[in-house]
Amino acid sequence: MIPFVDLRAAHAEVADEVAEGFARVLRDTAFVQGPDVAAFEQEFAAFSAVPHCVGVGNGTDAIELALRALDLPPGAGAVLPANTFVATAEAVVRAGLRPVLADCDDDHLLLDPAAAATAADAGTAAVLPVHLYGQQAPMGPVHTLATRRGLAVVEDAAQSQGSSQDGRPPVSLAATSFYPGKNLGAYGEAGAVLASSPAVARAVRLLTSHGSEEKYVHETLGFNSRLDTLQAVVLRAKLKRLATWNESRRTAATRYADLLSGIQGVRLPQPAPGNLHVWHLYVIRVPQRDRVAQSLREAGIGVQIHYPVPIHLQPAFRSLGHAAGDFPVTETAAAEILSLPMHPHLTASQQEQVAEALDKAMRQL
Ligand SMILES: *Cc1c(COP(=O)(O)O)cnc(C)c1O
Repeated sequence: MIPFVDLRAAHAEVADEVAEGFARVLRDTAFVQGPDVAAFEQEFAAFSAVPHCVGVGNGTDAIELALRALDLPPGAGAVLPANTFVATAEAVVRAGLRPVLADCDDDHLLLDPAAAATAADAGTAAVLPVHLYGQQAPMGPVHTLATRRGLAVVEDAAQSQGSSQDGRPPVSLAATSFYPGKNLGAYGEAGAVLASSPAVARAVRLLTSHGSEEKYVHETLGFNSRLDTLQAVVLRAKLKRLATWNESRRTAATRYADLLSGIQGVRLPQPAPGNLHVWHLYVIRVPQRDRVAQSLREAGIGVQIHYPVPIHLQPAFRSLGHAAGDFPVTETAAAEILSLPMHPHLTASQQEQVAEALDKAMRQL
């Protein structure tokens, strides 16, 4: 069996540090807003080269609270790609905004800025580029669009911790997730908002904690969505290894490219020009994807699909009024994409087995 991810191998590297940290939190009973939370926020802000980080309960809350902190007009549109995890669209609705979907580009399956420009209507106030699979959406064109149309930019960076892009404008506001399977994963639910503006960071922080900075003084109506102290301990230990782990993912991606490039009918993922990719997912495209996936699973290869049903075709978003055919690039991709095992502890021999099984599956089509 070759697992899709190997959280156990990652844990083995940090086990001692996590055990020590947990013992410290238990001894001090610092369960909520303990010192490890502030320390992690500082460390992750420094790692991300963004001035402010606010830990939150999960990635979906991170997107919602980042949007809420901007105080956009209720019901305003927010452009996001149809090709994303449901949470991006869900958070937009939960923030009182209206999802405005746009297609992705066929090369990288990231938000297509031209499609975003066409989709944005007069009532649109924000754009949410999603750094899907571990590489950044084209931020130059996204910022050009945002400047031209007066849109706020909120980046969904749940899959891109440690990625970068040449010549891009600095992060103004981004949301990330530390769901266990992410490149930087907690041992439960966790997320964060990264902000360049101290005022926006403060607004997010107020929202995470009942609208309160000073105990029992509630400036605004908020939520309870704080980063758990035990999760902060895990994240601090793992953050020290994230750059190395991302480098291992890049090595694995290069090896996949070597092993798979000779297999007829398989389309391999590419980093977009200027992107440092962190390969959260290694997503190939194949014809008859369900048959290929089935063969690989029978061969003991853990494969997954990210994501089989685009946002506009989900029952939960029926009210947006879309139909099949509205976002053809996303729809075609949804039928062809297949995520192969990808994690920092994947071995060369495991990758060779994946390649062999894929070659066999493709020959059987
Ligand atoms: C994981 C993920 C989220 C949501 O994060 P949670 O912590 O699971 O709430 C949002 N957007 C994308 C693209 C994701 O991959």
